[in-house]
Amino acid sequence: AKKKGRNKYYFYSEALHRQIVQKMMVESELQNALLNQQFILFFQPQMRSSDQKLIGVEALVRWAHPEKGVIPPGGFIAIAEESGLIRDIGQWVLQTACCQMKRWQENGGPKIPISVNLSMNQFHDEDLLKNITTALDVSGLDPRYLDLEITESTMAKDIERSKNMLNEIRKMGISVSLDDFGTGYSSLSYLKNLPINRLKIDRSFVSDIDHNVRDRAIVAAIVAMAEHLWIDVLAEGIETSAQLRAVADCRCDAIQGYLYSKPVGGNDFEASFLRKGRH
Ligand code: C2E
Ligand code: CA
Ligand code: CA
Ligand code: CA
Repeated sequence: AKKKGRNKYYFYSEALHRQIVQKMMVESELQNALLNQQFILFFQPQMRSSDQKLIGVEALVRWAHPEKGVIPPGGFIAIAEESGLIRDIGQWVLQTACCQMKRWQENGGPKIPISVNLSMNQFHDEDLLKNITTALDVSGLDPRYLDLEITESTMAKDIERSKNMLNEIRKMGISVSLDDFGTGYSSLSYLKNLPINRLKIDRSFVSDIDHNVRDRAIVAAIVAMAEHLWIDVLAEGIETSAQLRAVADCRCDAIQGYLYSKPVGGNDFEASFLRKGRH
């Protein structure tokens, strides 16, 4: 029994060891990726469904891995967040997104905002405001064309500080979207207390909405409440025209999802959504 116990101990220790080594390898790979400029941005349109007009664009990071191909954020954001590397990656994303939007605008593109996701670490970084200012200065982008997407769980870490930060961000002329709305715990008190421009209704409320009356009731209630609070609403993850109709019936006009486009590279986005006559 003793021996078995010892083996067991070794077994777990080995597994744990392997896990730690694996994590360290990914961390150093991520560090390399930053140095070697392996991160790229994809872009997904935000549309007004009533007239098919482009109203915004979300920047989504990808890792163009030299051997493994394009890795979506699910494959590295968590490790980047744990190791703190997300701050550098996030700042690269923010700056690059602002520069891209500025360039598009200079080339005659529409005056629409670019939405950038802020991670937990980034948002709670004491240099947050300075970092945002740097990205705006470097790019020359007018702050009213920057929208920051922040999740409820990111804010939950410190509501008082979040409120102060959001107030400062809003004073700069930047807009704020509450991402993944409905998946957190205290959504309503957030709406009451935080200066938010827009709710992004999480895909989980949308995926069954065309045949689930409860989802429809929830989305309709969110939209009605947001209207009273003068907050915009966008439905995420719209894949089918049935889903589009269902959210439109709930008076939600702004949408994002595969129905219009998956996230695509900058050139593809430009060709499909920014060429003259498309806006
Ligand atoms: P998110 O911010 O909620 O972004 C939306 C995700 O849903 C994106 O996945 C997008 O590709 C996907 N999506 C869009 N439309 C549809 C649809 O119709 N159906 C389905 N099934 N999915 C759809 P992606 O790009 O893999 O990003 C996943 C998450 O990674 C993002 O969720 C966000 O939390 C995080 N992320 C992405 N880029 C960044 C970044 O630059 N910084 C940080 N901190 N996080 C990022
Ligand atoms: Ca987002
Ligand atoms: Ca989201
Ligand atoms: Ca999400």
